[in-house]
Amino acid sequence: MTLADTQPQALNFECETGNYHTFCPISCVAWLYQKIEDSFFLVIGTKTCGYFLQNAMGVMIFAEPRYAMAELEEGDISAQLNDYEELKRLCTQIKRDRNPSVIVWIGTCTTEIIKMDLEGLAPKLEAELGIPIVTARANGLDYAFTQGEDTVLAAMVQRCPDKPVGEVEKEERNSISKLLNFGRKKEEVAVTESEYAKHTPLVLFGSLPDPVVTQLTLELKKQGIKVSGWLPSKRYTELPVIEEGYFVSGINPFLSRTATTLMRRRKTKLIGAPFPIGPDGTRAWIEKLCSALGVEPTGLAEREAQIWESVEDYVKLLRGKSVFFMGDNLLEISLARFLIRCGMTCPEIGIPYMDKRYQAAELELLSKTCREMGVPTPTIVEKPDNYNQIQRIYAQDIDLVITGMAHANPLEARGINTKWSVEFTFAQIHGFTNARDVLELVTRPLRRNNSLK
Ligand code: SF4
Repeated sequence: MTLADTQPQALNFECETGNYHTFCPISCVAWLYQKIEDSFFLVIGTKTCGYFLQNAMGVMIFAEPRYAMAELEEGDISAQLNDYEELKRLCTQIKRDRNPSVIVWIGTCTTEIIKMDLEGLAPKLEAELGIPIVTARANGLDYAFTQGEDTVLAAMVQRCPDKPVGEVEKEERNSISKLLNFGRKKEEVAVTESEYAKHTPLVLFGSLPDPVVTQLTLELKKQGIKVSGWLPSKRYTELPVIEEGYFVSGINPFLSRTATTLMRRRKTKLIGAPFPIGPDGTRAWIEKLCSALGVEPTGLAEREAQIWESVEDYVKLLRGKSVFFMGDNLLEISLARFLIRCGMTCPEIGIPYMDKRYQAAELELLSKTCREMGVPTPTIVEKPDNYNQIQRIYAQDIDLVITGMAHANPLEARGINTKWSVEFTFAQIHGFTNARDVLELVTRPLRRNNSLK
């Protein structure tokens, strides 16, 4: 069987010019520094990168964030200054002032073009300063928005320990079980442990807010599945142990490099599943994990039905309407699939980059959903052209356009409802319980316009 045979045939893929709006991938520092509490992110770039971060991150910049810009000057670019000495000076200062457990260097367009050898400098400086330095090339030349997180996590995969550690450290690393067992006695913890099925250890990857991590971990616990660790964890010092043969699964559609690194470098087995966005996606995700780990899933159909019932008031507003994704954050396929299940039609899904292998299960669920809902399958437009898309939006009379801030107000002024796409990246959208939050976001412009009538 060739690879092409495994792709869902019904979907239509196109590729345009890549002339579209999105956030620069360096924006990932904004959520990653909050997630990894003992980290410090140093973006090595120019004032352009600084202006972007300062504006895009809004009020966060007043909260003494643990990220900074190393602004390159004329001298750096013309190689009159010594890169190593400059970075050493800055990192020494960061170590002195903030004392982080890891410094993450974010390479930018400029460091690429002047070929600054960050990967070569990092190990030397790491040894000299005695603090881990992780390098990620999250630049606008190669990647879009959320792919920034992918480059950082792929670099961190290499830092996860590969052997079971001593009891004390094991305790420390296993922060999820600490969280779940908080306040319990030792005997009670032993009872809880016996509730899990016997299966190969499972590590999940993707950065999510802690409450969502707890929700998804508990959701799997109900099925007897134990999550051995999350990449990233709350602290750099608690990165999960990853041994050869472990199962891994991604919770976001933009983590294909991390998945590849986990498979190739750490010899883990990837469970390719749809992503836990929307009640349909969450159920499919859990079922896929269960079948890979040899566990019989229970009560999922009822759980899904119960969630659908609780969001019926929102779904009512969406049924029969059309949605158009201009595409800028790679969550588009999963969101479109969920909205089609809500009864919407979707003529086009724009997406910056489409990894058909990593997203295979999600694409399959998308075409299955279209079949079951009796709607035409969307055209998936990789590297879209925003100008062309606007013409298509006008031509098709779309009810809701999911797009960036650049086009939102101009489209609203022309009588077209829009939803700002970036909010999906920062809101809690994973798992059964957050399905309502996704619909709250999607229906907001429709509800607002109804109340203005
Ligand atoms: S696209 Fe390049 S130059 Fe622009 S902010 Fe991103 S890294 Fe900096």
